[in-house]
This record gives sequence, structure tokens and C-alpha cells, in this order.
Amino acid sequence: MTRIFSILMALFFTVSLARASEIPAPVVVKVNDRIHALLGPMEMPTKKNQGYMVNSILLIGDTGAIVIDTGLSDEIGAMLARHYAKLTDKPIKYVINTHHHGDHTLGNAAFPGAKFLSSEICRQLMLEDGPTWIGILESINQRKYPNTRVIPADTTYPKDSRTELTLDGIKMVFWVPEAAHTIGDMMIWLPDDQVLLAGDVLVNQVTPSFRDAKLKEWIRTLGEVQSLPIKTIVPGHGPLMSKEQAAAMHQRMLSLYDGITAGVKQGLTDSEIRQKLDLVEWKKLHNFDEQMGNNINKAYLEIEADNF
Ligand SMILES: [Zn+2]
Repeated sequence: MTRIFSILMALFFTVSLARASEIPAPVVVKVNDRIHALLGPMEMPTKKNQGYMVNSILLIGDTGAIVIDTGLSDEIGAMLARHYAKLTDKPIKYVINTHHHGDHTLGNAAFPGAKFLSSEICRQLMLEDGPTWIGILESINQRKYPNTRVIPADTTYPKDSRTELTLDGIKMVFWVPEAAHTIGDMMIWLPDDQVLLAGDVLVNQVTPSFRDAKLKEWIRTLGEVQSLPIKTIVPGHGPLMSKEQAAAMHQRMLSLYDGITAGVKQGLTDSEIRQKLDLVEWKKLHNFDEQMGNNINKAYLEIEADNF
């Protein structure tokens, strides 16, 4: 009896351990009949969420499907692929990466047989920074990911361009700004759906990361977004966004930029500037404490260099 009990207990613990290491489930949102978004968690990457945080999108075309952004590991990519298989039985023919960051690209290996598309600079930065991102993934989870590998684009689009094309019956515009969240962002505008797939150029309810950003160009790009007849935005992180929420992010970024510029012109240090900034709107966002110090420092360095 005791023996059976201990076997049962052992089984119970094995099962609960296996469950504890499961990747959290996405929130599935139907934007319209052919656009579905899988929204990831909004917290910082941890061992518990396994680094799953990205929003990934499925576009269902005439004879195949298209996936935008694939997660931080092949395992996250495979989890997304399983959800997509429930939404369509059409093969995934294309994967589009909105920028090079590992949380958007390292799941590419889970989509064999797809053609990979990104901006030219995204491709280059994936090759340069991919190993660093695999290192980040492995240190978050304290284990190796032998099947997670960098799969760069087969077809690329140049800096500062807008390319109109039709993929599998879906009209789209690939919009590569000069720079924004990174120097290799690519947004996807779907004119017939009036939906913008923004990558991390737009994030909702979370603190954007300035780590690889060019703030001046980012703010200009956010201004240009306002000229599109947008119905819905799928941001890189957080819930779906309205055009008004995108305008609010633009304003928040602009006032921060102006505040830091004023401080730089008065010769203040970045910590003196931080004391003076009005961060009320920023403090409402997820991950403010983890991200904002680095963000202000990054912005300070960019603005200082521009004013030198
Ligand atoms: Zn990013």
C-alpha cells in the first residue's frame, strides 16, 4: 500500500513538474475572418514563461497561410504552430519577421518549408546578434536549446521603403522605416483589412524597449502611422490597439524626448534629468521598473550625441 502510495506521489510530482514548465497559453484574438493574433504574456521573460512574450499573427490566404513573428525558441514556435493548426488546415507558406530581436525570430525553426521575409537590416542583425539572443534564451531558462537556431530571411526589403505586394491573395504593404524600435523594423499594412501589424514599433500597455532604438526616427515613424486609415493595430506586445492609443504612445514618446532634450541643453546629467521628467503616463505601463532606467539612459546618450 505504502509502495503504491509513493509511486502515485512520484507520478503526481512528475506531472506537476511537467505542468510547471509548460509555456503559458496565448490569448487568441480573431481580428477578422483571415487575421488571428496570438497575444503573448506582458511580463518580462522569466524561467516560468520561458521567455514567451511576443504577439504572433496568422493571416489565412487563398491556398496557404502567413505567420508574423515566431517567439524566443523553437519550442515557443512549435507551440504557436500547434495553435495555428487549430485555426487553419492550410500550409504555412511564409514567415515574416518584424525585426531581429530573438523574441520575434528564434521560433523560425518551427516553420519548416516556409519562405522567410524581413527587412534587409533585420536579416543582417539576426546573423550578427542571433547567438547573443540564443545565449539570453539559455540563461533565462538555465538549459540548452539545441534546436533553436537563427533562420534569416530568403527575401529582404530595403531601408526606407514601402513595397506593395500580394501574398496568397492578401494585399499588403511592407513598410520599412528608416529606423524606429530598431534600425531594421518592418511593419505590415493590410489595406483591404485596414489593419497594421506593427511589430515593436507599437506596443500596448507595456514599456517599449529603447535598447536598439533610434528615438528621433521612431517618433517620426509614429507620426506617419497616423496618416493611415487604420481600424486595428496588432502591436508587438500587449492587447490590440486603436489609432488613438497609437497617438497616445506617440505623444508619450515625444514628451519624453522633449523633456530629455531640454535637460541636455541645460547641461544636466541623466540622473538629474530623470528627477525632472513627468513619468506619470509611463508608470502605468507593465515593466516600467525593469525598463525605464535603461530607456532614459539610452535616450540621453542619443540626444546628447545629436546635440554635440
Ligand atoms: Zn523588440
